[in-house]
Amino acid sequence: MAGSVKVLKRPGTEGSYVRAASKGLGVTLKHMIRPYKVTQQYPDEKWELAPRLRGTHRMAVHEDGRAKCVGCGLCPTVCPVNCIKLIPAEDENGERYAAIYEIDEFRCIFCGFCQEVCPVEAIHLGVHYENAEYSRERWVYDLERLTELEHPYTALWDPADPTSQ
Ligand code: SF4
Ligand code: SF4
Repeated sequence: MAGSVKVLKRPGTEGSYVRAASKGLGVTLKHMIRPYKVTQQYPDEKWELAPRLRGTHRMAVHEDGRAKCVGCGLCPTVCPVNCIKLIPAEDENGERYAAIYEIDEFRCIFCGFCQEVCPVEAIHLGVHYENAEYSRERWVYDLERLTELEHPYTALWDPADPTSQ
């Protein structure tokens, strides 16, 4: 089927620019008189964060305060940048736990694989971004620090609702 071609008339050189310039000035004036706030007074004011924002990690704990990690080794295996250090151990009852668990938040790319792969929902990314530090070492979060954080866990994407935020 042959398509139809629409020929557009090009504007001539005799046209006036006054109308276009007035329109542009009108937009400028509109922004001059209406209260248009572009500066946010951080840290007094903050954005409302999306529940799926992937930020600083948190380690979930049992009621007695023990970290939920069972030292399975899945998260350090799946981590694409190798920023999780895990040394697992076994207690007298034969239960596994993480003797050493560290995440280098500086190296982390916040992909969320660790959270998705954890079989006991122990490690979570968090809705949190305020983790500036003065030294590189402070970016390595150990188990104690990860369990003490209290910001909300990142909500995982729900495949049953692909458009969810
Ligand atoms: S979010 Fe991704 S990069 Fe960061 S620790 Fe987890 S698996 Fe590694
Ligand atoms: S996947 Fe979960 S249980 Fe396994 S080592 Fe990581 S945090 Fe621990």
